Amino acid sequence: MTELNRRNILAGGAAALAGTAALGESAEAKVGLTPIFPVAQVTVPVVGLKEVFPVRRIYCIGRNYAAHAIERGSDPTREPPFFFQKPTDAIQVVAIGSVGDHPYPTLTKNYHHEVELVAALKSGGKNIPADKALDHVYGYALGLDMTRRDLQNAMGAEKKPWEIGKSFDHSAVLGPIHPVTKTGHFTKGAISLAVNGTVKQNSDLNKMIWSVAEQISKLSEAFELKAGDIIYSGTPENVGPVVKGDVLLCKLEGLPDMSIKIV
Ligand code: MN
Repeated sequence: MTELNRRNILAGGAAALAGTAALGESAEAKVGLTPIFPVAQVTVPVVGLKEVFPVRRIYCIGRNYAAHAIERGSDPTREPPFFFQKPTDAIQVVAIGSVGDHPYPTLTKNYHHEVELVAALKSGGKNIPADKALDHVYGYALGLDMTRRDLQNAMGAEKKPWEIGKSFDHSAVLGPIHPVTKTGHFTKGAISLAVNGTVKQNSDLNKMIWSVAEQISKLSEAFELKAGDIIYSGTPENVGPVVKGDVLLCKLEGLPDMSIKIV
């Protein structure tokens, strides 16, 4: 190494350190730090409030109703809960009383509906005991965990991640959030989904293998949960395909209906 090169490297290193120190020391510098481009915070409306619920992460539980576990080929009596995530910006909010246009996604020929109760957290933590877990719930919503089933199955068969089958744009359909102060907690109640007026999925929340409280507890063993996290709590049996033009109507006892049209 030449002396000139050595001096340049040392000078560059010193400048970099000085830059770091300046940023670290100066509160003004921190305040002045702005993103190089805007990235939107994903939010969900809250019924009765002007404020919106900011979404941090989307967790989903798999095979949480015995009859659905059996139709997906697993044993509901032995399998511990398992989870996957969707990207936050996969959320499509559907307003009460409207029919949301939901785009049929690319790459699939077997696009499935999964109606689910969704829990929204106002706080979190690690290793949350089940008997304290519901204290962290801000509210509930009615949701659809839309699924490219052919891609999910193909990836599963190859022991590859489900990502492409589950975690794509618009795959997390959601109605507005209802504060638990207004609705109470959901541990039972009819949940159903109809396609073009024909009921396809029809069950009760009391048939969940793992309750929302148990889901929060189990999730918090694997991840530190935080305010803004939402949890899709699993779908009952009789998931099935939809095509363009289909209108889906989701019902959950105690909440307004939610509807989308596949376009
Ligand atoms: Mn699901």
